[in-house]
Amino acid sequence: MEIASLPLPDSFIRACHAKGIRSLYPPQAECIEKGLLEGKNLLISIPTASGKTLLAEMAMWSRIAAGGKCLYIVPLRALASEKYDEFSKKGVIRVGIATGDLDRTDAYLGENDIIVATSEKTDSLLRNRTPWLSQITCIVLDEVHLIGSENRGATLEMVITKLRYTNPVMQIIGLSATIGNPAQLAEWLDATLITSTWRPVDLRQGVYYNGKIRFSDSERPIQGKTKHDDLNLCLDTIEEGGQCLVFVSSRRNAEGFAKKAAGALKAGSPDSKALAQELRRLRDRDEGNVLADCVERGAAFHHAGLIRQERTIIEEGFRNGYIEVIAATPTLAAGLNLPARRVIIRDYNRFASGLGMVPIPVGEYHQMAGRAGRPHLDPYGEAVLLAKDAPSVERLFETFIDAEAERVDSQCVDDASLCAHILSLIATGFAHDQEALSSFMERTFYFFQHPKTRSLPRLVADAIRFLTTAGMVEERENTLSATRLGSLVSRLYLNPCTARLILDSLKSCKTPTLIGLLHVICVSPDMQRLYLKAADTQLLRTFLFKHKDDLILPLPFEQEEEELWLSGLKTALVLTDWADEFSEGMIEERYGIGAGDLYNIVDSGKWLLHGTERLVSVEMPEMSQVVKTLSVRVHHGVKSELLPLVALRNIGRVRARTLYNAGYPDPEAVARAGLSTIARIIGEGIARQVIDEITGVKRSGIHSSDDDYQQKTPELL
Ligand code: ADP
Repeated sequence: MEIASLPLPDSFIRACHAKGIRSLYPPQAECIEKGLLEGKNLLISIPTASGKTLLAEMAMWSRIAAGGKCLYIVPLRALASEKYDEFSKKGVIRVGIATGDLDRTDAYLGENDIIVATSEKTDSLLRNRTPWLSQITCIVLDEVHLIGSENRGATLEMVITKLRYTNPVMQIIGLSATIGNPAQLAEWLDATLITSTWRPVDLRQGVYYNGKIRFSDSERPIQGKTKHDDLNLCLDTIEEGGQCLVFVSSRRNAEGFAKKAAGALKAGSPDSKALAQELRRLRDRDEGNVLADCVERGAAFHHAGLIRQERTIIEEGFRNGYIEVIAATPTLAAGLNLPARRVIIRDYNRFASGLGMVPIPVGEYHQMAGRAGRPHLDPYGEAVLLAKDAPSVERLFETFIDAEAERVDSQCVDDASLCAHILSLIATGFAHDQEALSSFMERTFYFFQHPKTRSLPRLVADAIRFLTTAGMVEERENTLSATRLGSLVSRLYLNPCTARLILDSLKSCKTPTLIGLLHVICVSPDMQRLYLKAADTQLLRTFLFKHKDDLILPLPFEQEEEELWLSGLKTALVLTDWADEFSEGMIEERYGIGAGDLYNIVDSGKWLLHGTERLVSVEMPEMSQVVKTLSVRVHHGVKSELLPLVALRNIGRVRARTLYNAGYPDPEAVARAGLSTIARIIGEGIARQVIDEITGVKRSGIHSSDDDYQQKTPELL
């Protein structure tokens, strides 16, 4: 089926032709036949790389041509940027990305034809009653199988249920990896199911053991150039002109493998050297840059500890062929379009608390294996598992290659976030009594999977009881409504347990210290905490010995709670060091974390402190000023003495410290010193902007307001 023959706008067809896309792949053609362009709901569960994004684009373009507006929901922020870039390249239509603060309606986004958003952001837009949501005529659910994810599945399921509740006629396109129960998910979505095993490049799946890859019908010998099997498999592909992706279980293993591969590749190309330079420029520090050293020779590692720019450089470098091998943790398998001729799944067991090492899910194996083979570039793709002994060969075939993909099961009521979702349903007027809440919940995938369940009303009643005791919901004459606090918590996108913990803790102390407040937010359910390592014990003990009295929360007796308390303390200490102006490098080394982790912790810390400020301003205004000062310190990563300087738009933590140490502690002193003096310290361009800002403020009689703290982009991170 030719794209040019379809009823799609010319500009879209031209953009496809420019990308070399002329005719549809067979599963794509089937989607057209099943009504993709006529507004029909489809659940498309086809292998990785078989062109799901193009299907979504065709559906969206035809809705836009009919005057509609589309929402593309992704599971990760990184994917939102990738899709945003991809859709924007097609020109003509207006594309917006919604990944910002979780308590804004982002009205301007409504001017776009396509809005790309994460499920959390979509949920917050719903909670803040964003008007343009009612104009959406098509939603695309990318990676919809993640409804079964323990951490975030519940939010995706609630978002889908709410969107369909408010707008029952819009088109739904679900894009899914291969799953065990696609028909059930399709039925819940009122969608036609499209499944297929077709792939644009042949995929050969095998197990390596003792010098050979065994496929189901053949064998392939691999030369043993080094004593490492995993490395030999890589070198074999590279020698043939292909690239390799190696999936390992931990960041340390990813870095270890990349170093080993770099050692074996040695030479590198002028392009890989240029990439390494680019990576070095990103980090303003003298110590070694392991990533750049590896990339220089054509190898890289990829994990969540890297910052976004580093990951982008590596992904682009790989796509352009400048990097020959990437060792990655499984996060890379989730969604990114980064194919390679050979994919080596080296670590296929994972530690599970209470169970020890267990095999990774079959679905995850398929996602990794599916990355094998670049369309038009590779003659075939190979996915290889590494067996440790002869009997494992057969077992690996059974456990992964020949195994059925797992079912997707709703996490909607098991998740600790049920209370948060019930609060949002009440606060946004979806439901005003227990019966309405239960009937809303009956539209969920959970109820679809368990139609005979009797526990739903009890779970709803438990959540209401908790919310009433927490002062967030009240019941009058059988009608439920959110209190002022409840509405605020819902709009701020905070878990009600987090909000209660923050308020109760602050009420129990006179003046919170920085570490005291940070520890509270870091043990809350909304914070992603750092893992505790054996080596951390000394660090935490030393801290507790000296500063125990600065904490608000007492050390719990239960072991499990103690672990949470301690990992919260470790995370809070990272934020304290940040606000005490330790350099990024020092913080990363002290806690054994990557720059990406630091970025995420600071980002979450800022969001939770912003929420704390808002809660305190309503519930305990007498504490507002103290909390605001602490929050602004973390926002900019500075000690109190630098606060007047960082209120200036172009001054971040590093420039502020330089100016302060040079004897200019506030904007007035900077203005008095004059352009030439300040230019010698922070460069002429910035000095001019800063002085203009100060004099401008003076002229208009406005002093730097607190809002400046919120609007400014931090100079670092
Ligand atoms: P999936 O989401 O199924 O993993 P993608 O949508 O990322 O796959 O598509 C993989 C690659 O295939 C992309 O580079 C895309 O441009 C290309 N592609 C999609 N459809 C076609 C087609 N009909 N002809 C040629 N290339 C295509």
